[in-house]
Amino acid sequence: MPALDIELVPLLKDNYAYLLRDPASGATGVVDPSEAGPVLAAAAAKGWQITHVLNTHHHWDHTGGNLEIQRATGCTVVGPAPDRDRVPGIDMAVDEGERFRLGAAEAEIIFIPGHTRGHIAFWFEASRALFCGDTLFALGCGRMFEGTPAQMWSSLGKLRRLPGETRVFCGHEYTQANARFARTVDPGNAALAARAERIDALRAEGKPTIPSTMAEECATNPFLRADDPAIAAAVGLPATDPVAVFAEIRRRKDNF
Ligand SMILES: [Zn+2]
Repeated sequence: MPALDIELVPLLKDNYAYLLRDPASGATGVVDPSEAGPVLAAAAAKGWQITHVLNTHHHWDHTGGNLEIQRATGCTVVGPAPDRDRVPGIDMAVDEGERFRLGAAEAEIIFIPGHTRGHIAFWFEASRALFCGDTLFALGCGRMFEGTPAQMWSSLGKLRRLPGETRVFCGHEYTQANARFARTVDPGNAALAARAERIDALRAEGKPTIPSTMAEECATNPFLRADDPAIAAAVGLPATDPVAVFAEIRRRKDNF
């Protein structure tokens, strides 16, 4: 089965939506459209007909374009079941472990609460693509607006178990600032230092840093590495309690 065609669409100040097209059927989804205009224009430029909106969570900067895209295209809006009351225009509510089909392409729904209580990811295994909204960022993770450190650490643990080759398509271009913070809690990590240099070079050219891979994130993202003794030592906590280490680095990032 051919992989999804994936097109990144920059929105607002630092949001990314993604257009996904199943080449076999022409079915086309858009992940987390904060606004409609640029998404409809990008789809038209490619000659793609939007059939689905895929929402990872209810925040307005991920769903603000839902209704206008739905009106313009008649598409089906897919979103997290626990947030069915908060996702504009939702037609199909999906939950942990369910399968969502975009034409011939199939995604597994992974329930990853913490940033919001109903947050989900869409994992298209055959296309090696994960759409994880505001839970996992390149070199970072989302703020815990509606969850606890234990919940967020558990959600990130689910993502960490995906194959290393999985491409990570997250909701925002926060990578350069995340890299600056990451180096304060993982100063001895050579892979992180090298990645930070690559990120600076990409941003200097105005290029996106997305997607990364899960292997890169596992090696360099401190929020996936709270059980690494070096990070625990850097924040002065015992390595035996990754939830406490995770909570501490999240707290430091909130104030960075
Ligand atoms: Zn959000």
